[in-house]
Parts: sequence; structure tokens; C-alpha cells
Amino acid sequence: MPFGGVVKASAFSYAKPSSLSELFDLMEMYGDRAKLLAGGQSLIAALNMRLASPTVLLDINGITELSGIEVKGDVVRIGALTRHRSLEQSAEIKKHLPLVHKAMPFVAHAAIRTRGTFGGSVAFADAAAELPACCVVLDANIELASRKGRRIVSARNFFKGLYETDLQPDEVLISAEFPKLRVGYRSAFLELARRHGDYAVVGVAVHGKFQDDMFSDISMVFFGVADRPVHAVNAGRALESARLSPSTINTLRSAVSLDLETYGDIYHTAETKLHLAKVLAGRAVSIMALGRET
Ligand SMILES: Cc1cc2nc3c(=O)[nH]c(=O)nc-3n(C[C@H](O)[C@H](O)[C@H](O)COP(=O)(O)OP(=O)(O)OC[C@H]3O[C@@H](n4cnc5c(N)ncnc54)[C@H](O)[C@@H]3O)c2cc1C
Repeated sequence: MPFGGVVKASAFSYAKPSSLSELFDLMEMYGDRAKLLAGGQSLIAALNMRLASPTVLLDINGITELSGIEVKGDVVRIGALTRHRSLEQSAEIKKHLPLVHKAMPFVAHAAIRTRGTFGGSVAFADAAAELPACCVVLDANIELASRKGRRIVSARNFFKGLYETDLQPDEVLISAEFPKLRVGYRSAFLELARRHGDYAVVGVAVHGKFQDDMFSDISMVFFGVADRPVHAVNAGRALESARLSPSTINTLRSAVSLDLETYGDIYHTAETKLHLAKVLAGRAVSIMALGRET
């Protein structure tokens, strides 16, 4: 069949465990012939294009432990099965993780956001996706579990490459914990896409302190520019103790050049992406400093 024609998934069976222990039994039984099904918004397309042909889909939607948003102490925990729409509409997320709140309208379209899940997006690790960038910029901790036990991986070490993460074949992504917004901290989230709802051509997430007209402790992450979200360490340093001015923006743009080794794609060259990243970086820190909503 020519590329672009109607394609259907190859035959598979289906199981819906209702607990993690049941899920681990099934994962052990099927090994790499199984695929976990969360919202299905990326997986089903991959099956229909025959990019994956699992023998069985293990639907994790019946495992209640994986759902929900919880604020406890200084952290916000987002369960893997939390739908994009729930994040977008959550008052707790808006209050404690305003960056995530700002990012959500950029994730696909409303219909996809009602099914797609936080954990699915993070586990899928598309380099142009918004939620992985939020995890890295806010320095989230990702909780993974297998039959052998649980472990925590910093989001900054979790994304390994294009659709590649630290998640092992016998593991499930359980949740992520984010530090709550602290006093004096602000954020901005911007992206350029060919059409609203498409994956980003280039995007930037910025979070840090802006107090007494001065930037400090700034974390900046670009997405859509390389094989994973890129933490722009030089950009953060360039803003330390700086005030918003044309010269600060110029220094920031030079720092972004040091941070990014951009990849081109079928629509944009690496040079165009770098140029766009620098423009977005300048806009994002201006928005932060001026206290405007993105
Ligand atoms: C037209 C369209 C436009 C889109 N645009 C965007 C966009 O702009 N930005 C964006 O970020 N996304 C976009 N998406 C993807 C969407 O956000 C998906 O919902 C998301 O990438 C995957 O989440 P899911 O819950 O649907 O996962 P699924 O499709 O069910 O699973 C995706 C992968 O993750 C694995 N997985 C799922 N959950 C877990 C878990 N808890 N532990 C371990 N592995 C797990 C699955 O086995 C599978 O390999 C778009 C999708 C479509 C169809």
C-alpha cells in the first residue's frame, strides 16, 4: 500500500488489569510483545501505521492509583493517567504550577486533550512535546515502578533521545512530582507551530525568580529543536542578576547559540530553528519581567 493510504493495525488482543500487581503479571507474561495503552492518542496512530505491532495491548486506564493531581507539602504530584484536559482545567495546577497551566492549550486539540494523558506524553517523549519540557524546566522527579520496586529519576536525566527515555521495558511511569511555585518566581511558555494544535516547530519554557527588577535562578528549556528537551544552562547563567534591557537580550541570544545544536526537519533548517529559538527566548524573558500572561 502506498505511503499515506488507509492502514489498519495488525491483530492484537487486549487486557485491562485493575491493579499494578495484575499489570506486572501481564507484563511478565508477554514481555516485549505487550504495549501499554493510556490515552491511545499516539499509540493507536503508531499501530495503524504499523510502526508497532504488539501481540497484546495492556490498558492501564483501570488502575486508579495512576490517576489524579495531589498537592502535598511543597510538591504537586501528577499521576500518569491524568488527562491533559484535567491539567488544563485544574485550579491547583494554575495556582502551584502556572507554567504547566500555560503550556496546556498548546498540546494538540481539545478532543485529543480529553483522552491524552500526562504519563503517555512523558513516556512517549516526542522531542517537540510540551509536557516533557515542563518536567525538565521545573526539575520534576519522575516515579517509575516495576515488579522489582520503585525508583525516582530526575526529569533532567529521563529523556535520552528521540522517543527514548530511561523507562525500562518492565517499568510503568507512575507519576511526576513538581516543586510548588515559590515566592518571587514566575514563568513563561511560548511556542511557534505551523497551525495551532500542531507539535511545536520551536518552543521555550522559562521559570525562575524575578524580584526587584532582577532575574535570578532562571531555568530555560527549548523543545522542538533537537532530539529531546534541551536545558539551556548558558542562557540561565547569562540572566543571573541581570535586568531586562536590550543588552541583556543580546547576551541571552548569544548564550542560546552556545546551548543549542539545533536539528533541521522537513520544513525548517537548523539555522532557522536556532534563529526562532533566540527570538522566543528574548520574548519569553520579556513577558516574565513585565508580568504579562503568555
Ligand atoms: C493530531 C494530534 C496532535 C497532537 N499534538 C500534540 C502536541 O501538539 N503536543 C503534544 O505534546 N502531544 C500531541 N499529541 C499527542 C498527545 O499529547 C498524546 O496524548 C500523548 O503523546 C500520548 O499520550 P497518550 O495518553 O495518548 O498515550 P498512548 O498513545 O496511549 O501511549 C503512548 C506511548 O506511551 C506509553 N505509555 C503510556 N502511558 C505509559 C505509562 N504510564 N508508563 C509507561 N509507558 C506508557 C505507551 O505504551 C505508548 O508507547 C498529538 C496527538 C495527535 C493525534
